[in-house]
Order: sequence, then structure tokens, then C-alpha cells
Amino acid sequence: MTDWSSSIQELVDGIAASVAVVGRDEARALAIAACNDDFFEMTGGRPAGARRFPVPFDTMVPSYARREFREKIQECFNTGVAQEIEQAYDLKDGTHWWRLSLKPLRLLAGSTEIHEILVTGLDITPKMLLTHELEISTSRFRSVVDAAYDAIITIDQQHNITLFNRAAEYLFGYTQDEVIGQPLTRLLPERFRARHDEYVNQFARSPVNSRQMDERNRIYGLHRDGTLLPVEIAISKINVNGLIEFTAVIRDIADRIHLMDLLQKQAATDELTGLPNRRAFTDTVENLFRTTENISLFILDIDHFKKVNDTYGHDMGDEVLKALAEVGRVNSRKMDIFARLGGEEFVGALPGTDLEQAYAIAEKLRGVIEQQRFEYKWKNGQATPFTVSIGVAARQPGEHEVGTVLKRADEALYRAKEGGRNRVMTE
Ligand code: GH3
Ligand code: MG
Ligand code: MG
Repeated sequence: MTDWSSSIQELVDGIAASVAVVGRDEARALAIAACNDDFFEMTGGRPAGARRFPVPFDTMVPSYARREFREKIQECFNTGVAQEIEQAYDLKDGTHWWRLSLKPLRLLAGSTEIHEILVTGLDITPKMLLTHELEISTSRFRSVVDAAYDAIITIDQQHNITLFNRAAEYLFGYTQDEVIGQPLTRLLPERFRARHDEYVNQFARSPVNSRQMDERNRIYGLHRDGTLLPVEIAISKINVNGLIEFTAVIRDIADRIHLMDLLQKQAATDELTGLPNRRAFTDTVENLFRTTENISLFILDIDHFKKVNDTYGHDMGDEVLKALAEVGRVNSRKMDIFARLGGEEFVGALPGTDLEQAYAIAEKLRGVIEQQRFEYKWKNGQATPFTVSIGVAARQPGEHEVGTVLKRADEALYRAKEGGRNRVMTE
């Protein structure tokens, strides 16, 4: 060992980092002129007889790291400019990451010739592990967000979109590239836009961190093609370095709304005839009573319907009910309501009609039925003749109950039956 190398060895042993001085041997091949124990550890242990410097560079640096390391050293020699690389070394206890700084050493001040390179290495494994963990948790978050069935949208303090998952792309018809950085209001129907910013700001100030958007009202998003999307929205906010970010989880409830509408319609409809049923009639007429002073009701009952059933069979009885529903529908004005009360009893509401006018309308209907002046496609091609009796009553001023008016119509109907059927009587 030469004097200069032993004095350098003393120097590097005292430094708390991995340190090596790289130079060239007599054959001008790269060699480690000196290094400390940390450097040996970094490269995977001391090669046999390594205390005798210089040690050939290739025997110390593992093959997988050699090429990159070598190139940096070469660059440092060629340019005289300090270099830096990060390298991973697979050791027995796992992978270690090192940040290596390469600094050219000139023996004479002002000399351009570089004799050696000082390599110092910092173990950055803990930092890399942390970064790695963050990457894993970020990609885990990303895959959950993208696999979510619900649309997930995040906006920043300025209410611009910062996250838009796949379900959101599918629901709204935009790709994330088209909406990231754009104001959220693009996804709202026109009439919600003006109030939206205030709504978000109010939520930002509120102590509540998450909330379900108003369930009493239907909420809509706006699809790219302009159609309204019935949705359910849960929003939450998080504070990111003092800035508030909002996340909305949006569920497409078009199917549910459709089903609800269908169920509501079914609950209000008589299955056999498709007419409104008793409940739907009562509800609608009760509302009409609030707005319309002048209104009359009639109850219609098929004459000797039992005999129709007995003579032609129950199926033909059903056909008669359907035929009657059709006549009632066709002969109603737009504002009238014609419904099935139950059995072979039907009911009509005639807004803007006094008792006399209502009588005329009922009488016309009775005549149409008696003379079969209506179109109906009878199931077996054979029309079944039938007649009806009708009782008419007009709503009295200040009367609120639909039932009391119907009761008077029913009494009139009774008198029509008593009087020989196939006739109209008023209260
Ligand atoms: P009236 O002239 O006094 O009204 O005599 P009616 O035979 O019409 O009256 P009644 O109340 O005695 O008989 C009504 C019949 O209506 C009895 C019942 O079997 C029949 N009915 C009730 N609902 C239905 C239905 O949905 N389909 C059929 N086919 N028949 C029904
Ligand atoms: Mg009856
Ligand atoms: Mg009857």
C-alpha cells in the first residue's frame, strides 16, 4: 500500500456515509483506490483480500449496477462535472436504495486533469420505501375508485373537477380528459347552476363533513347529450393543506325512478280496464274541489250485469266492463275524469259543469251505450248489448268531501234503478 492511499483510507473511514475514491490502475482500468466499510456494505460485502487497494471496480460492484455506475464515472471523468445517480442494491436483508454523488478530484489546483473521483453514497431506503408505499396506496385508491359502480367526482376550492372516475364517464358521457379542470356546473342542468356555488360554499362552512343531498326533491345531472339524469348524491369534504376539496358519490337512479313511477301508476290504475281506480279518482277530485267551484259527479252502474255474466260467461262480463271503459274514455272531455269504482260501477267527474249540463252529458252517454254507438273490438267479434243507469249530483258551494257528493249521486242512481233502469236521475 502506497503512502497516499493509506492516508486517503484514514480520511474516508472517518466519514459517516459510504465513501469511495475511484481512479485507474496501471492498465488504466477503473479501480477503487480507497473506500470505507459502508461502501463495502453497500456493494454487498468485502471481496476477498479487498484491504489491498486498489481493488478492481468490477470485482466490487455487482453486475446489475455496474454499467450505469461505470457510465456516470466515465461522464464525470470526461466532463469534469459532478454527477448523481440513484441505484438499488439487492442485499441479503433486502433491497437498499442509494443516492450516489460523484465528484471529480483534481490533484493540482487549477489543473484540468482529473485523477480520481470521490463517490459518496446516502442510504435513501426509508424514503424509497415510503414513496413505494404511497404509490401502492395511491394505485389501490385509484383502482377502487375506477371499479366503483357509482360515479365519483372530486372538485377543488374553485369548484373545478379534479377527479372523474369511469362510472362518471359512463354516466355523464364525457371522458375524464374532457372534464378535468372544467367547472362542475357543466354537469348540472341549467336551473341548478345559479344556486350551486352558494350551496357548495354553505356546505364548506358547515361543521358537517358529509351529507346526503336533499332527498325530498329529485336531483338531476346533465348528460353530454342534454338528457336529464335522475341521481342520488352523497357529498363529503376534506381539508387538503388548508384547501377544501369536495367529493360527490353519484348514483344513477333512473331504473329506480322508473320502477317507482310504474308502481305508482299501477297503484292508481284498475288492472282490467286501465282506468283510474277509486283511490286515484278520490285523490284527483279532492284536488279539483280546491280549485273548481262548479263541478258535478255521476255514478254509472250496468243494468242486470249479473245476468250478462250468467248468460254469456264471466269472460264476456269482463269484455263488457272493458267496452264500457272505452266508451267512457272516448266520450270524456280532456278535463273530465272517468274511473272504475269497483265491480260494474263507474264514476265520472265533470269540472265546470252544473247539474243540468251534467245530466245532459250523462244522458248522452247512456244513449250511446244503449244504441251501441261506439267502437270496440269485441274479443269474439260479437257485440254484447247492455244498458246503464246513472245518478248525477252537483257539488254544493263550500262542500269539501268527495264522498258526500258521491253519496247523493248514488241515491239518484238507486232511484234510476227503481224507476226501471236504463235511465239518468239527478239528485
Ligand atoms: P242491477 O241492474 O241492479 O245493477 O243488477 P246487477 O246484476 O248489475 O247488480 P248486482 O250488484 O246484483 O250484480 C253485480 C254483478 O257484477 C255481480 C258480480 O259477479 C259482477 N261483477 C263484479 N265485478 C266483476 C268483474 O270484474 N267481472 C265480471 N265479469 N263480473 C263482475
Ligand atoms: Mg252494482
Ligand atoms: Mg248493476
